[in-house]
Amino acid sequence: MADRQELTSRAGRSRGGSGEGEASGLSDRMGRALGDLRISVTDRCNFRCVYCMPREVFGSDFKFLGRDEVLTFEEIERLARVFVGLGVRKLRITGGEPLLRKDLEELVAMLASLEGVEDLALTTNASLLPTKAEALARAGLHRVTVSLDALDPERFRSMADTRVPVSTVLKGIDEALKAGLTPVRVNAVVKRGTNEDQIVPLARRFRGTGVTVRFIEYMDVGTSNGWRLDEVVPAREILDRLEAEWALEPLDPRVPGEVATRYGYSDGAGEIGVIASVTRPFCEGCTRARITARGEFFTCLFGSRGHDFRAQLRGGASDGELTETVRRIWAGRRDRYSELRTEANRGRRGEEESTPAPPRVEMFQIGG
Ligand code: SAM
Ligand code: SF4
Ligand code: SF4
Repeated sequence: MADRQELTSRAGRSRGGSGEGEASGLSDRMGRALGDLRISVTDRCNFRCVYCMPREVFGSDFKFLGRDEVLTFEEIERLARVFVGLGVRKLRITGGEPLLRKDLEELVAMLASLEGVEDLALTTNASLLPTKAEALARAGLHRVTVSLDALDPERFRSMADTRVPVSTVLKGIDEALKAGLTPVRVNAVVKRGTNEDQIVPLARRFRGTGVTVRFIEYMDVGTSNGWRLDEVVPAREILDRLEAEWALEPLDPRVPGEVATRYGYSDGAGEIGVIASVTRPFCEGCTRARITARGEFFTCLFGSRGHDFRAQLRGGASDGELTETVRRIWAGRRDRYSELRTEANRGRRGEEESTPAPPRVEMFQIGG
């Protein structure tokens, strides 16, 4: 039986992430190393997930970035090299939907050949994985994380708002497994009143397959999704639903600063994870840097403006200058948005809990 205290005692308790950033001596104001880099390669997407790109806001007249506005593969590789030189060992390609970016395998090959990269992952909605998994693996991608919030076709449509059928996503997962893009993880955002009845079916579908499902609390990223605290299904409730079906045991974090709290099925059929970003923030262990498709450098998902690397790159900056910029920004980092939100909301309930809406970066721009 999973101990309720586990969720509150383990998440975000350790500092330093992969610990790799510490090797370079680069840490922020709270002693957090620079551990990993998430790179968004496009702001476009073929889904309109209600919690990320609601169609009412991002309809057919929405203006996405033009071809010259997004970083080129060469610019991305240069930046990645700078971050790897500062101790980053984990790279994740994300979006928007990264597989919509033409010839993504070329970027994968460029990043895979950077010396020092130990983990090269991709987050995707999997709609294009059935045809692309093998080429991505050949190019040197290590693994994929697939976002899938429901198995029931109706529920899936109500979350992802797409014509792509859920069967295509499932096929994408199978192809990723066949291509060796493992371990494959499935991320499921849970939104109250929309898909909490899919928690158990999702867990059941992947139990015993080697695919780990991680349930994510719906977050107040950006300003477009109309987030309300009462639409968050707390990780504790997610666990309650799972434990009504199966016996679970807490597992130790694999790496310090891991965002998911892990539980193993007592019968050995694998594991699940919960990411309690709202009810149990993990800012204390947050070692992630992020670059948007237009080249802005963010040190928190909840930032509103990032440093403009694109201008610096296109203005002729040297590698040394780029390195100094990362050092300076990371050294001054104080971000702990989710912890502050929790402190602010503690003890309050209802509509007034909705976070006030400064113009923050959207999830499809920063990549999650
Ligand atoms: N399109 C790709 C995908 O969906 O996997 C990559 C980009 S997407 C922005 C990255 C992740 O952010 C997805 O797993 C998605 O579920 C998650 N995400 C987006 N909006 C979210 C929100 N409001 N709360 C929690 N997770 C969110
Ligand atoms: Fe697209 Fe991913 Fe956002 Fe869904 S979560 S709208 S798939 S970018
Ligand atoms: Fe990291 Fe910001 Fe999320 Fe805290 S709120 S865990 S600092 S991205």
